[in-house]
Amino acid sequence: MANNRDEHQSEDYLFKIVMIGDSAVGKSNLLARFARNEFYSNSKSTIGVEFQTQKMLIDEKEIKAQIWDTAGQERFKAVTSAYYRGAVGALLVYDISRRRTFENIGRWLNELHTHSDMNVVVILVGNKTDLKDAREVDTAEGKAIAEAEGLFFIETSALDSSNVTAAFETVVKEIYHILS
Ligand code: GDP
Ligand code: MG
Repeated sequence: MANNRDEHQSEDYLFKIVMIGDSAVGKSNLLARFARNEFYSNSKSTIGVEFQTQKMLIDEKEIKAQIWDTAGQERFKAVTSAYYRGAVGALLVYDISRRRTFENIGRWLNELHTHSDMNVVVILVGNKTDLKDAREVDTAEGKAIAEAEGLFFIETSALDSSNVTAAFETVVKEIYHILS
């Protein structure tokens, strides 16, 4: 279908996506793995960067995903409204080896919906699947809460890279399909 933006396609899409979830669940490492294929085994290394822009190709359209990461202020309600403002997507991350981080999902959803549009696309991400012996949250539990809350769901490991690209692509694709 023709549209009046055909001449400058490369600027057509810029999606703000926020990383949320408890401290130390692996938000910064998921982003580092996705954007730079890097991993930090001892990351107190939240660099002072607010966001990373990653170009992606979806349906032959160039999409820029502007992915925001918290600078370690994820204590409840310490993330400011500026962080959420304008977000069209979110990765809500918990750590499958720490049940407490799973139990806080509801709080994060409330925060997100207080500060951003109700239509924000959310994927629930159970990270650290490489820690098989330390698992405290079953895959089925993650799936169930995601289904109940209308979220996408995926389990990842920033350490061994599994499903990391898929997590980000799922969100970006869905936003693209809603907006196009
Ligand atoms: P954030 O506070 O949510 O940004 O979490 P970080 O990305 O800083 O990660 C916290 C800690 O968990 C660091 O020591 C990471 O190396 C570790 N980590 C992050 N992702 C994974 C993962 O997938 N598997 C394992 N085993 N450790 C991880
Ligand atoms: Mg971090």
